[in-house]
Amino acid sequence: AAKAKGRDRCEIFDRALADENEQLLALEGELREALAADQFVLHYQPLHDLTTEEICGYEALIRWQHPKRGLLMPGAFVPQAEAIGLIDAIGRWVLERAARDFVNVSGGLSVSVNVSPLHLAMGDLVADVTEALRLSGLPPDRLEIEFTESALLSESCNVHAALDALRELGVRLVVDDFGTGYSSLAYLVKFPFSKIKIDQSFIEDMTDDRRAHDVIRSILNLSQALGVTVIAEGVETEAQLRQLVDDDCKAAQGYLLGRPEPIARIRPDQGQPG
Ligand code: C2E
Ligand code: MG
Ligand code: MG
Ligand code: MG
Repeated sequence: AAKAKGRDRCEIFDRALADENEQLLALEGELREALAADQFVLHYQPLHDLTTEEICGYEALIRWQHPKRGLLMPGAFVPQAEAIGLIDAIGRWVLERAARDFVNVSGGLSVSVNVSPLHLAMGDLVADVTEALRLSGLPPDRLEIEFTESALLSESCNVHAALDALRELGVRLVVDDFGTGYSSLAYLVKFPFSKIKIDQSFIEDMTDDRRAHDVIRSILNLSQALGVTVIAEGVETEAQLRQLVDDDCKAAQGYLLGRPEPIARIRPDQGQPG
């Protein structure tokens, strides 16, 4: 009986694995189709300068207008695209789209793009960024590139050289979700970063968890010493905003200040993007 049970379990396991493979294969086809048929969309969320209270840039956030499943958030397809090996192609699309959307935005505001750690470590990111700037005509100092801490863990020369090359192109580099990974201020010194974004989990807790607030304050102090700009992510309440201003945080992003929106809402005068 035990043997039979074991065999059943194996069958269930095999079936689950086969299903998962099949799903991933189907998704691979759908993701390729999405690129070919232009089903990806970028929404842009404003970044606010807390000193002037004005918008000082936007972050590009990808969505997938899936023909059957509706508008999908990045959590539903970015990890799969990474696993399948399609994240560089998607990353190239994002860089080109964002650069073209922003080249004519009034006020010369910057756009910040999220790049997968895999694209940095294994893809041809420097060439892809160069090409996006060339095709769009966007000046490099109006493009920012966000990396999560996991991208920086790699000790590889590749990663270090790519970051230096990007900085030399004139784009600004940003550490995203700061505080969630193996946060180390060492790489703020080692790598040429201009900005860090404090992860929204700290902002969420800051008004009723003293330790979360202490972490935010120490990040603000240290980054000031290093000459790095800090952006607070995920600001949802007036109380959080007030506390950040009291702490002398200079920039913030979050639903309280503005939600991610299509480009047409940002430059309504300019009609359909080319
Ligand atoms: P992220 O770069 O940390 O982006 C911030 C996320 O927080 C976005 O979720 C944004 O919509 C959400 N958000 C903004 N303000 C608030 C707020 O006040 N409260 C809450 N609860 N959430 C807020 P989204 O668009 O679902 O993106 C999730 C993650 O997916 C991003 O995190 C980024 O890591 C990744 N991602 C987004 N676009 C791209 C892309 O083009 N390429 C790659 N490789 N990854 C992307
Ligand atoms: Mg980001
Ligand atoms: Mg983030
Ligand atoms: Mg995040």
